[in-house]
Amino acid sequence: MSERVEGQLSYWQKTLNLSDYQIILERISPVQVFDADIDRHKNPFIGVRLDGEVRATILHTRLLEEEDIIHELVHLAHWDWPEEQVRQETTRLMVSCNYHG
Ligand SMILES: [Zn+2]
Repeated sequence: MSERVEGQLSYWQKTLNLSDYQIILERISPVQVFDADIDRHKNPFIGVRLDGEVRATILHTRLLEEEDIIHELVHLAHWDWPEEQVRQETTRLMVSCNYHG
């Protein structure tokens, strides 16, 4: 994990009250990602998987931007929120407080 990503992850974990979580970042190949909607492999993908009560893995096919990290952590903090609400909250957080590490 790069220092930039490490700093952003711990900053946003704290901000979103997720400091108890052990979060692993796992780079995967786009070949592993199958999109049933368009019936094809080789799709870019970023998503979060809950592995336990306080354990999660962020899977990603490309380098993670700060916005990606916030987005996936918002999913984790609000598991029941629909995608649109997660997007709006991510945008709000990006505007209101930025990590400057
Ligand atoms: Zn999402």
